[in-house]
Amino acid sequence: MSKASKAIKSALVSVSGRVQGVGFRPFVYRLAKKHSIKGEVRNTPQGAEIHAEGRKSDISRFVKEIRKHAPGQSRISSIRLAEKKPAGFPSFSISSSRSEDKLTAEIPPDIAVCGKCLKEMKDPSDRRYKYPFINCTECGPRFSIIRKLPYDRPNTTMSVFKMCGLCGEEYSEPLDRRFHAQPDACPECGPEIVLRGSDFAGISETEKAVVSAARLISEGRILAVKGIGGYHLCCDAENMKSVQLLRKRKNRPAKPFALMAADVEAVKKLCLLSRAEKKLLCSPARPIILLKKRKNLEKASYDVIAPQNAFLGIMLPYAPLHHLLFDSFKRIRKNAPAVFVMTSANLADEPISRTEEEAKIKLAGIADYFLTHDREIHNRCDDSIIMLPEPSSPVYIRKSRGYVPDSISIFPSRKMPCVFAAGAELKNTFTLTRGVNAYVSQYIGDLDNREALRFYEESFKRFTEYLKVTPSVAVHDLHPDYLSTVFARELSSKTGIRTVAVQHHKAHVASVMAEKGVKKPVIGVAFDGNGLGEDGNVWGGEFFTVNNGNIERAAQMEYFALPGGDQAVREIWRCGLSLLESAYASGISEVFKKRPVDIVSEMIRKGVNCPKTSSVGRIFDGVAAILGLRDEVSYEAQGAIELESLALDFCARKVYNFSIDTAIDGTHVISIRDMVLQILKDKRNGADLRAVSSAFHNTLAEIIKSVCVILARRHGIRAVALSGGVFQNRILHSLAAQRLEASGFDVYFNELVPPNDGGISLGQAWLAANNSNE
Ligand code: ZN
Ligand code: ZN
Ligand code: FE
Repeated sequence: MSKASKAIKSALVSVSGRVQGVGFRPFVYRLAKKHSIKGEVRNTPQGAEIHAEGRKSDISRFVKEIRKHAPGQSRISSIRLAEKKPAGFPSFSISSSRSEDKLTAEIPPDIAVCGKCLKEMKDPSDRRYKYPFINCTECGPRFSIIRKLPYDRPNTTMSVFKMCGLCGEEYSEPLDRRFHAQPDACPECGPEIVLRGSDFAGISETEKAVVSAARLISEGRILAVKGIGGYHLCCDAENMKSVQLLRKRKNRPAKPFALMAADVEAVKKLCLLSRAEKKLLCSPARPIILLKKRKNLEKASYDVIAPQNAFLGIMLPYAPLHHLLFDSFKRIRKNAPAVFVMTSANLADEPISRTEEEAKIKLAGIADYFLTHDREIHNRCDDSIIMLPEPSSPVYIRKSRGYVPDSISIFPSRKMPCVFAAGAELKNTFTLTRGVNAYVSQYIGDLDNREALRFYEESFKRFTEYLKVTPSVAVHDLHPDYLSTVFARELSSKTGIRTVAVQHHKAHVASVMAEKGVKKPVIGVAFDGNGLGEDGNVWGGEFFTVNNGNIERAAQMEYFALPGGDQAVREIWRCGLSLLESAYASGISEVFKKRPVDIVSEMIRKGVNCPKTSSVGRIFDGVAAILGLRDEVSYEAQGAIELESLALDFCARKVYNFSIDTAIDGTHVISIRDMVLQILKDKRNGADLRAVSSAFHNTLAEIIKSVCVILARRHGIRAVALSGGVFQNRILHSLAAQRLEASGFDVYFNELVPPNDGGISLGQAWLAANNSNE
């Protein structure tokens, strides 16, 4: 034997994390060739395993480069190296996956079609010219088509399509971009597009279907378009009649519709776009970004798309089909802007439609045509929504397609129990933990109907299977009637696992702690809609002290009546009336002329059907009503959104008066009576409503700062964690951050989960796991 061959080493390199479905093995293959490494790489349930044989120095360079140059969509959590008996491999190869019992690999999220695939799709000489299911290892559907791990074709909904010879060659050629691209397909062997009429009968197929669909959209029709995570309802955003018709058919009077614009140029014509916003807009996750509408947008249809709203939610095309639709549409429209309404296809608050059967039944009467295909969607996944308040980091409003499943490392040790956290009710998600990580589900939606519950149960089952976990604790909201609470309790009675109830706003604050791994004591601020409090009242304007996972309420907004309970959430004039009543304002009946003020005032005075609340969300509603913006809302936070939109470009310095009192038990109570009276006075004097709204926002930020200063002095805490749905208001978000930072606080907001109830389950999981550790 020569000297060189004696120096051959053999090592087993175990890589864990998200390395499947992201082109990791071909990457390793190329790297192995580069460094003259022999051996093999295979997917394992934990990630990937490389048996590497070669010179010691080559192996160490090889491993270094795996870490350094791993594919963009991968996420390596660890690389371990161990000696291994040499097997004398003649070359390097990619082996098939091995199924084992314990699965800890991570599922990749769906990724927008990449530039290389797009180029091929537009190239007439390419065999995938105009093929709407083109993809490669760097792009394409993932989570939405995966039935189980490991991520191999037979375990996806692509299993029913038998690869043709050419695709098979690409698939097995390690140097090909489609090497082991599980959803790989072509017009010969893959899924097909079909255009169907309102009766679901097929009209045309493949390219013809796309061209006809684009023409129908340009003619003002409403189409249901099957995408990656579900169906969209689609129409021409510049066609006022279509948009109005869609509103009518969907029975959705005012809630904003999401848009999809052909390209960045089209987006810029509608909205202001910062560099950071553009980057996110174009990112492989392709989320919807809430962008500021340009003033004087000519097309009135955008006022119908997002009425009284300073923002438009826009995304770029992400499925190849979207690109093809826009290409055809632009050819028909010549130079006209190409922007579609692309709203999740569902009924009211039900989940997004996933199957042909669902679409046919649920969307009958809404969609004129169906642009559909035969690649099954296994996991429903709505579009994600993000906003970028200045100067903070991006804030998720909804975290789903493109990001889910995501693991968030929240625990210091692997020995944590497996926690199932059920979430709350609105915009719900659940969380499962495994070792140090928390896995937050995709957006389930408002858990207040049977369909949503079914989606929730199904997703729970799938996540436990993907993650191979069996929860030992079930955490739920304090509210006994939430379907998530009922589900957690039933799970407990079926399996005998322990349940823990966590107060809603404590969970909000804990979600920030979990994300940031904050260990030091903090002041928690939860400004929110509704959540059941520990005293039986409806909380939503609370301050907490957080110490070692122990959360105590330290201050609150003064309670006011919620006349009629849930009715006051829809009829926001009731909140306005209640605020005025609690401030002893005079001449209240003139403020809400068309409303039964006397009856409701009497209710408030006698305390009949009047739960007490400290909710800042309801304060927004009340102020919106007092200012005459509207008496009723047709979607959650409508009043608050309109109030925010008013103040957006108006920087008043004014701060209204408020007072902070101390109750017998030492908690602080913030009274906004003075502010309410001043707002009423300003309104009566005909003040500029933009100025009033701006001063109102200033006052809330000042309240946050003042209370935090008091609590900081008393408890010696210098950090503040803020969460709750109200912090989706970007003015308050920014103002609170500025004022707190100016007062020397470390300020933490949610960055990995939404501040709204979509983040609740993460906070619940963190609290329960921490407390079970004690
Ligand atoms: Zn690609
Ligand atoms: Zn093929
Ligand atoms: Fe909440």
